[in-house]
Amino acid sequence: MKRFDYHLHSEYSMDSGESLSNISAKAIREEMEEIAVTDHAELQNPEDLPDFHRRQAELAELNQKYEGSLKLKSGIELGQPHRFPKEAEQILSETAFDFVIASLHELETLGSPANFAFDKTSAPVFFRQYFEELRVIAETADYDVLGHVTLPFRYVPESLSDLHHPMLYRREYEEIFRIVIGRGKGIEVNTSGLRTRLGEPMPGSELLSCYHNLGGRVITVGSDGHSCRSAFLGIETGMETLNRAGFETVTVFTNRIQKQVKL
Ligand SMILES: [Zn+2]
Ligand SMILES: [Zn+2]
Repeated sequence: MKRFDYHLHSEYSMDSGESLSNISAKAIREEMEEIAVTDHAELQNPEDLPDFHRRQAELAELNQKYEGSLKLKSGIELGQPHRFPKEAEQILSETAFDFVIASLHELETLGSPANFAFDKTSAPVFFRQYFEELRVIAETADYDVLGHVTLPFRYVPESLSDLHHPMLYRREYEEIFRIVIGRGKGIEVNTSGLRTRLGEPMPGSELLSCYHNLGGRVITVGSDGHSCRSAFLGIETGMETLNRAGFETVTVFTNRIQKQVKL
């Protein structure tokens, strides 16, 4: 099975210290086919934006060095693009990215799920707002795939996890999937979920089946690794999960043009 990791962070992200050369050396050792480095652009924090110009040059050097054995794609993970459309547009127009993930890491008024006090009363309020903002991103942002669509569920306390399970929000997800599919865009399977209490990729197999049944075929797999230790973790499991959900192919991108590759 050819392995692709389409969600990785390097030292160009504010929350990673890993060099591109270390990540590529590991990719060569693990015989990865192709990797996309998708450093953070958290649009509400312009001071933390990566120097994509410098990264582009470094990626070009590494692609030359590893020609024939590894392809490195230039990606970006845009955080909160619905709230900062002008800033997002400017970043995307300045660099020739291969691949764009749009992610919702923090809600406009309720903040990040990691810092939110989920309880019986507050959790429904959080999720109502989450799906509203995710729907706006799906509808209005410029992206190739939506990132880790079940992210907040990993922060719901055990005592509430039966009441707030991703599949209980199936209707909300199906509405978003229809928008994504209608725009010719996709979602990702983020295997970092396997390393959390969720114990499954984000989203898990049931929601992936829903997406597939609605006609969704644009799908990437990524580890969301922020270090060499976590880079490429769970990629096989992610690809097997896709297979079980009915997918026969996974999507790769060059200059933001999709190509399907057999699983
Ligand atoms: Zn993310
Ligand atoms: Zn990420």
